[in-house]
Amino acid sequence: MKPRLLLHTCCAPCLLEPLDLWSGTFEVEVFFYNPNIQPAAEYERRSQTLRKFAEANSIVVHEPGYGPEHWTDAVGRISSADTDRCKECYILRLTRAAEFAGASAFEAFATTLAVSPYQNQESIAEAGEALSERTGIPFVYRDMTDRYRSSVEQSRALGLYRQNYCGCIPSMPQSRKNTR
Ligand code: SF4
Repeated sequence: MKPRLLLHTCCAPCLLEPLDLWSGTFEVEVFFYNPNIQPAAEYERRSQTLRKFAEANSIVVHEPGYGPEHWTDAVGRISSADTDRCKECYILRLTRAAEFAGASAFEAFATTLAVSPYQNQESIAEAGEALSERTGIPFVYRDMTDRYRSSVEQSRALGLYRQNYCGCIPSMPQSRKNTR
């Protein structure tokens, strides 16, 4: 029997490659906790896309709730550079994943954020390692940005909804260019 991995998942398209990679070693269950996503209708669209894909592929999804106020409290107050804001955003989401993994007897946790070249991979790895030390749950990480192109092609072939921004208001196309 494979060890259980809780895979924090930002959206269905970004799930494809990490699922392919980690399913060889782990029994993967998905954790959709993304209070960074604005507006609520966009959160619901990403959530529904993920749940539909998961149902079709017999994947267990844990979704603790939207809670955008958690993002506002922890991250929204940061007005400095994107790197600082994104770092806190990773910490917020991965903290919830690590705590859930510990409480639900998972052997490890990981994140699909590792596949996106638009995310700060160094900060993701640092946040995961720090949480691993704090909770005792191993953080499984590999920079998977070399598989991003494949994830885009696969998600298009599957007809999955793909957003064109990361999630928060500052990352929206009308706020900036070249997000995702
Ligand atoms: S750009 Fe993405 S990772 Fe950075 S703060 Fe916004 S939602 Fe979070």
